[in-house]
Amino acid sequence: MDKFEKMLVDYTGVKKAVAVVNGTAALHISLNLSGVKKNDEVLLPTLTFIATANAVSYVNAIPHFVDSEEKTLGTDPQKLFDYLKKVGDIRKDACYNRNTGRRIRALVAVHTFGHPVDLDSLQNLCEHYGIILIEDAAEALGSFYKKRHVGNWGKFSILSFNGNKTITTGGGGAILTHDKNLGKLAKHITTTAKKPHKWQFNHDRIGYNYRMPNINAALGCAQLEQLSTFLEQKRCLAKRYAEVFRRIKGVRFFPEPNFARSNYWLNVLLLDNSHRHERDGVLETTNSRGIMTRPSWTLMHKLPMYEKCPRMDLSVAERIEQTLINIPSSAMDCMTVNVV
Ligand SMILES: *Cc1c(COP(=O)(O)O)cnc(C)c1O
Repeated sequence: MDKFEKMLVDYTGVKKAVAVVNGTAALHISLNLSGVKKNDEVLLPTLTFIATANAVSYVNAIPHFVDSEEKTLGTDPQKLFDYLKKVGDIRKDACYNRNTGRRIRALVAVHTFGHPVDLDSLQNLCEHYGIILIEDAAEALGSFYKKRHVGNWGKFSILSFNGNKTITTGGGGAILTHDKNLGKLAKHITTTAKKPHKWQFNHDRIGYNYRMPNINAALGCAQLEQLSTFLEQKRCLAKRYAEVFRRIKGVRFFPEPNFARSNYWLNVLLLDNSHRHERDGVLETTNSRGIMTRPSWTLMHKLPMYEKCPRMDLSVAERIEQTLINIPSSAMDCMTVNVV
């Protein structure tokens, strides 16, 4: 376990990594230790995996959904800045929602399908409005923003090692931080907050049993050693896709943003607007022929438990949702894509 955490620190460049049972638990603890309180609002993209929104609910906070941009598929910093100019009320370095009166405590920035979001801009925005930045890098191990690994901008950042992610520990996740003391606290609270002692069981706060089992951490060490090979294969596949789809009308392959080197965790096709009605047909045909394509996640604000949450205009995320298709992205696929 200590070895896996050390390897994560060395690879990502953060000060402290804490291995936990899964990425959702890592988000839960990151929000908790960021001081997100009951009835605070937390900004997060509506275009994300359900775990991001659920973790906000676990700390009794309220998701506040923000729009994405076509350039990164993640949060649009300019649009969010303009929105907060209208909706945000800055009092004593803290930002409140003018409409609800609740404090907007944090922003969870998601690196969607492994593509880094515009971190410098979002960090500036958070500083300006007194909002805590947390990076959901669950999908982005091996992705770099301006030559630095993602996870280095948030107060906390998280990774996932679920079976479908770039590397896996069976199930698992990690909390990353630059603050050594917060890192220690994260370790403490994810291991039942037990005070170190030879035999006594003393606990000094409500803790969680979120520790990653050693057997999973051992897997993680072996997987991390293969990461650079996986990343090479994924880039090779993405390059092949880019070449193939350049010749096909009505659809484009989504490339990494120009400031980023992406891990291409899950490859993305975007249909031209005029072809959006063909999405379901493409999904039907490909899946019936054994090619595993998938639509976008259903947007968070359309799910029953989140439909009443506060939100800004979400028109870009809605357009992305209607035109996006995920295509096979396993590192192995690089050898077979010639067939497509
Ligand atoms: C996978 C994922 C998570 C959660 O990770 P688990 O390990 O499955 O709990 C969180 N956020 C995003 C964006 C993810 O893709």
